[in-house]
Amino acid sequence: MTIFSKLVSLDAKWPSDVLTSVSVNRAKLELIGASVLATVAVIKLYDLYDNDMLNFKTLKEKSFRLLICLPGVRGIAEKQLADVDNTISKTIQKMYNSQVFLSDLPQTGLSDEHILRELSDYSHIGKVDWQMGRASGTVYCDGNRKLNDLMTKVYDKTAYTNPLHPDVFPGINKMEAEIVRMVCNLFNGNNDSCGTLTCGGTESIILAVKAARDYGREAKGITRSEIVVPVTAHAAFQKAAQLLNIRIKFIDSDPISYKVDIKSMRRAITSNTVLLVGSACNYPHGIIDDIKSIAELGLKYSIPVHVDSCLGGFLVPFMRAAGYPIPSVDFSVAGVTSISADTHKYGYAPKGSSVIMYAHKKYRKHQFSVQTDWPGGIYATPTLAGSRCGANIANCWATLLSFGFDGYVEATKKIMKTQRFLKEELSKIDGIYIIGDPLMSVIAIKSDRFNIFRLSDKLSEMGWSLNPLQFPSAVHICLTLMHTKPEVVDSFLKDIKTVVNECLLTPKDNTGGLGVIYGMAQSLPDRSLVTDIASHYIDGIYTTEWSQTNGK
Ligand SMILES: *Cc1c(COP(=O)(O)O)cnc(C)c1O
Repeated sequence: MTIFSKLVSLDAKWPSDVLTSVSVNRAKLELIGASVLATVAVIKLYDLYDNDMLNFKTLKEKSFRLLICLPGVRGIAEKQLADVDNTISKTIQKMYNSQVFLSDLPQTGLSDEHILRELSDYSHIGKVDWQMGRASGTVYCDGNRKLNDLMTKVYDKTAYTNPLHPDVFPGINKMEAEIVRMVCNLFNGNNDSCGTLTCGGTESIILAVKAARDYGREAKGITRSEIVVPVTAHAAFQKAAQLLNIRIKFIDSDPISYKVDIKSMRRAITSNTVLLVGSACNYPHGIIDDIKSIAELGLKYSIPVHVDSCLGGFLVPFMRAAGYPIPSVDFSVAGVTSISADTHKYGYAPKGSSVIMYAHKKYRKHQFSVQTDWPGGIYATPTLAGSRCGANIANCWATLLSFGFDGYVEATKKIMKTQRFLKEELSKIDGIYIIGDPLMSVIAIKSDRFNIFRLSDKLSEMGWSLNPLQFPSAVHICLTLMHTKPEVVDSFLKDIKTVVNECLLTPKDNTGGLGVIYGMAQSLPDRSLVTDIASHYIDGIYTTEWSQTNGK
């Protein structure tokens, strides 16, 4: 979930003032910006070796970054950030109902009853009723008691286990190996296929990118690694590129199908490319990229190909049996070398597990980390973590066994039936349209008649929580088992129709909320300002006291 949607879902009105001030100052910046465009020529001279500099957008960004460094301008920016801070603090105070924070250990330990009473209070803060299917994605299972009880019992038996010590907890390692094998088989892996469990999709992706980088170094001697990634692929690829210090080349989507444009992808390949990426399906629009064509590029240029099926991973293998066949996106496609699939999304396991798979051990080997000379011993770990929570592995394993193949097919049927129904009904609503032709569980909508964020703002006032998207402005709903109850879909459709009609009555209206934030955020040429605001939001989440100036 993105930061700005959180801000807005907390208080639909707050950002207007701040962002108006940001926009006003932005106007000032634009003015100065014009006169500084000359500077750009200079930067260009210094930076000519960098291809990106030939791109106007980047030029504009760089000139803004220079501007922000000028003392006067920096003052304005700092003032804005202080305002933003204050507003964020207020918003968060509201989110926590102004409750006081603990900041020191209790001198003497509290009783279990006391702690559980507190816990109950904490779990009741918040206004999105996810248990009623009001949130997009977020919680994928339908909250059935039976699964919940199983998880609690499994946790009870495995709470203190750690797969870092196979000699002490071999059972946990056996479970992990079995999960990986079962999931590789679901994805049509052969005997060479392999993988590891990770703590989530982001870790799976970071590891896939690391393995590709180090494989590229070994196999081809590539030292200035680049990965070629659809713009619609998950933000985790950017995180991976930052952490691993490799260059990421973004490829636009086809404007009609919203699948990554294969021709542009081919053009972006260089002798430094270590990985091509496709999604099945992607997070923003639920679109499945043309994996076969990406894999063909991979074969042609001998570059590994990763399929990100974090979101769809536990729908993909069951789509055919559920009666909703999709093109092959797994190891049966020649050229696919790694796949990520999240057990903690449609696998319905508690949060904290995902599977990263490889077509062959020669790739997985580069995921591992081995320190041979540490005084603490030879230290070898398969993933980013050292110690890991064995209970997560056990719970993931238990969930897979509890559902079984048929259980997942049933769940997939329910979700896909809901998706097809909703897709059909949404496409009949005048004033909005669906992005591309989503074949899986996500539906993204946009509008050319009114600001689409007014729709999500109003729906959020009605208790729904949709996810905002940008470039282009849109919102999506990610359907889970929670939404498969007829009363949930029906009330969602009813509410969406009401709101669309309202928006169409005043199509120019643009007040407050997400529209302002995303309008502002998308138009700011200097993305570092957006980064600053978002970082201050994270700071805010870690607030444990209300200062005098804050929260009034
Ligand atoms: C959710 C998601 C991820 C990463 O997920 P986390 O488990 O939140 O780290 C990666 N790719 C896609 C397409 C996703 O939807």
